[in-house]
Amino acid sequence: MPELPEVETIARELKPFLEGKRIVKIEIFKPELTVGISPEMLEGKTINRVRRRGKYLILDLSDGSGLLFHLRLTGRLYLNPGPEINPGLLIHTEGNLTLSFHDPRKLGRAYWHPAPDEFLGFLGPEPLAEGFTPQELYRILSERKASVKAVLLDQRNLAGIGNIYADEALFLAGINPRRPASSLSWEEAERLYQAIREVLAEGIERRGTTLSAYRDAFGRRGENQLSLRVFRRTGKPCPRCGTPIERIKVAGRSSHYCPKCQPI
Ligand SMILES: [Zn+2]
Repeated sequence: MPELPEVETIARELKPFLEGKRIVKIEIFKPELTVGISPEMLEGKTINRVRRRGKYLILDLSDGSGLLFHLRLTGRLYLNPGPEINPGLLIHTEGNLTLSFHDPRKLGRAYWHPAPDEFLGFLGPEPLAEGFTPQELYRILSERKASVKAVLLDQRNLAGIGNIYADEALFLAGINPRRPASSLSWEEAERLYQAIREVLAEGIERRGTTLSAYRDAFGRRGENQLSLRVFRRTGKPCPRCGTPIERIKVAGRSSHYCPKCQPI
């Protein structure tokens, strides 16, 4: 499912095409996928900026409002899609471009909001932002008794991390996913900080992880699934020590870890 690196990949791909373009027409085919979007109100507005915040893709419009997309499990954003796509929403811009939002499982959503950053005000800091420091991660962890995995997944603590990158980061840092967040030492928090930044940067560099649903803005698979260390590698050897990777439930989610490199 799309996490920070996948949504960042789509945003970077759409940016050069859509920024500065005027919306000429919006077609809604599946109203249940949209919230607050009124074509008459948005047609004629210009897309000033394409960006990501957490797992949301944002089109900032010329009047300060924004279109926000949350892909959840199976939502996809395609630029100039082929005829096989069954779109929920089409945004046509000048220059003959079409952005399609579709989702066979209908879990994703496209929102319009007058103030996108206000709408996303509940999100925690961006883990790749320059201003995000190991000290801040340590503070977030030390205030929470839940498992470190649960704390990483909660978007109010940190924006953009989901199951894949949480497991990968915890492995790289050598931290067991069940450890209470507040039990991590300063050294462990610092290691986790570096690991989070590393796995997210790798994910972006490899244009995202495609295990099933994820495709980029041109319908292509990512490549990061070829380099995963533990995620969905249950029973396969740990890349560091060879011990078989185990899977356990933490915070209601499957968690993959090496029992030797990540002791409780
Ligand atoms: Zn190991």
